[in-house]
Amino acid sequence: MSMLRWLDMPFRYTTITDFEQKLNDWLSNVYYEILPAAGFETREEQIYTAYRIAQAFCRRQVLFAEAGSGTGKTFAYLLSAVCYARLIGKPVILSSANAALQQQLVGPQGDIATLSQLLNLDIDARLAKDAGNYLCQLKAERLQYASGKSASMRRLLAWAKQTELGDRSEIANVGDGLWQQVAWHNTLYCDRCRRRGYCQAAATRKHYLEARDFIICSHDVFFAHLWSSGERLAEKRLPLLPNFAAVVFDEGHLVEQPALRHLGSPLRQQSVTDVIADILLYRNHYRTALLLCLEGIEIAAQEFFTTLAASAIPHPEASKWAVDINPILLAQAQALSAWIAKTNDNITIETQLHIGTDLERNLNTYIQRLDSLLAGLLLLCAEDQQPVIWWEPAGDVLWILPRQFSTLLGQELTSKHLPVIFTSATLQANGSFTGLQHLLGLPQALHTQVGTSFDLANQVCAYLPQLVDQSNEAANTTDSFAHRVEHCLDIVQANGGRTLVLLRAPSELKQWQAYLQQRPTPFPYRILWEGSQDRSWLLEQYKQDIPSVLVGTDFWEGVDVPGAALSLVVVFSLPYPWDDPLLRAKKHAAEQAGLDPVATVDVPAMLIKLRQGFGRLIRLASDRGILAVLDLGPHGRDKHLVLEALPPGAKVYTDFNQALAQIPPES
Ligand code: SF4
Repeated sequence: MSMLRWLDMPFRYTTITDFEQKLNDWLSNVYYEILPAAGFETREEQIYTAYRIAQAFCRRQVLFAEAGSGTGKTFAYLLSAVCYARLIGKPVILSSANAALQQQLVGPQGDIATLSQLLNLDIDARLAKDAGNYLCQLKAERLQYASGKSASMRRLLAWAKQTELGDRSEIANVGDGLWQQVAWHNTLYCDRCRRRGYCQAAATRKHYLEARDFIICSHDVFFAHLWSSGERLAEKRLPLLPNFAAVVFDEGHLVEQPALRHLGSPLRQQSVTDVIADILLYRNHYRTALLLCLEGIEIAAQEFFTTLAASAIPHPEASKWAVDINPILLAQAQALSAWIAKTNDNITIETQLHIGTDLERNLNTYIQRLDSLLAGLLLLCAEDQQPVIWWEPAGDVLWILPRQFSTLLGQELTSKHLPVIFTSATLQANGSFTGLQHLLGLPQALHTQVGTSFDLANQVCAYLPQLVDQSNEAANTTDSFAHRVEHCLDIVQANGGRTLVLLRAPSELKQWQAYLQQRPTPFPYRILWEGSQDRSWLLEQYKQDIPSVLVGTDFWEGVDVPGAALSLVVVFSLPYPWDDPLLRAKKHAAEQAGLDPVATVDVPAMLIKLRQGFGRLIRLASDRGILAVLDLGPHGRDKHLVLEALPPGAKVYTDFNQALAQIPPES
């Protein structure tokens, strides 16, 4: 059989209603005939999920599809998605959480290539990577003239001269530091670059804008598009992504951060300094009134950011700090807003004086940049709107988010009445999708759930020691901490290492390190500490050095270690979210909606992360192991939640040796 043309549907249909029926027939054929004939296992969970997703596509529904590990949910959504893209004549966006997942989709041995070959479909899928993965021609050209270039830099620049798309993946062995020197970055002002429209950034955009079946991007790129497309169109600029037929969020439980990051307004002192410096590049052309305004902004910004730094309320663990929005800070924000508005008026006058010149174009971009700063400041000062405000010390940035963020997000996602599918192994918490639905402003969304294809009752057992209940009364004391660490080390040793220890907070990690350093008896297995090396290096070492132990706060997700290297996951502390301004806003919104804020916000966030952590243990049908939870909340308060989150059928032990006898580590 020859390869079908991209436009060809793998089945014939007459009407939209007929399309749904024919799609279901085709799915049956694929799952019951084609895949088994090619050696694939037929899984009822996968087939059920595929039908539900097909229905959501055909009826333009919003669907939360939870499917446990090993159910083949990727095939389940790809099959319907490719048909739907061809029906509508627009690509389906496949938005995923990270580069590894994207590679799993589009790599040479990836799921799309496999399906394409198996089903004789010529699937056209293109990656829209985060822009930082692409070359900025201007930066590379400037470096050509630099003296004393290293051999690796010369190699990089030679590649930069001849690459068509400027994609980092085309050139191997380029470290992050080197790449940053030539990479696109959001501090570049492409709008005023004379190469705009002709450089690799444009070629890349053109490449993926022409995708016929799928555009694969990160959640970050998708939400950057979602919140900016209206503005870009108004400015006669192309949106980041083209019109699409539907969107599928793989690892859909991870959309919150990128969605809110692109909805919120970030305010950095550096952004103010940068825009002033850029405007002043042409100081000789301006009238005095504009120069005075720039001086005004500089002074007002200095005052505002100094007060802001003093008004942030440090939190020992949270990355988002509350800010004391006091009258002085508000007055200074208003003063800064007034100077920015006045400056923009003056720049507008300047544009009239330089019509048709490069300077006019530059001045227009300054207006846009100042406008985006102004939007954040105005929201900050709009007391009636009660924006959600927090300070992120890591990036020296103040975030201002509309309080109705969930409603806005839900409205934006459903405004075009397109199919929107969220898939993940962990979308629900405590048997309910309410937490995520509420957060994303999608209370009417439909949902479906299937368990894992693994035989978890025989592959996993759980260890919930009694000591936790007793010691938690003094959970914060040094003795209690030492007691739990020692107990953890005992079970890790009994297991022969091969353990992932999951912590809640960076301070806990430091405490662990300090404790191990002063411990008189050295621990017999190598411990790989989060932060001691690059994450991917640590994961590689962990896979290769079988008895090693990986410890950190950032390994609840994205750790895929099949086989003997991981046979014990220890949850040292339950991953409740930290009390920060965003969490408080979510809880307040839940309360306003008549829901229990803890049950709607804290518990689902904790349970989804906990289930993700549990999911690290079994990656293959042949994997076996133990889940140990050393924190059940004060007085065992959360024991029922932990039991609920455990894989169905997993036997629970209070004696580690019994658990070990049930599931001994692989030799
Ligand atoms: S348009 Fe932007 S990415 Fe392209 S060369 Fe200019 S600054 Fe670099």
